Amino acid sequence: MIWPDFLEDDFPLGDGTADTSAQAECPHCGEPVEIAIDPGGGARQEYVEDCPVCCQPWHVRVRYTPDGVAEVQLDPAD
Ligand SMILES: [Zn+2]
Repeated sequence: MIWPDFLEDDFPLGDGTADTSAQAECPHCGEPVEIAIDPGGGARQEYVEDCPVCCQPWHVRVRYTPDGVAEVQLDPAD
């Protein structure tokens, strides 16, 4: 999946409008999970985190829209 570029200068860092969590679904067990996100990490983030339900690793990709809405994609990581 390729996300469109946007001006990261417009990213509403630190003014309280950026999401600090997002809903997603675990790609391993299918459980709905809430992902905590640190907007200070930037408009685009990628990291590995373990599912709190099944303990299997996710490859987490976060992208903030210019409005500060977080979009999260989870893929199996190993
Ligand atoms: Zn899981």
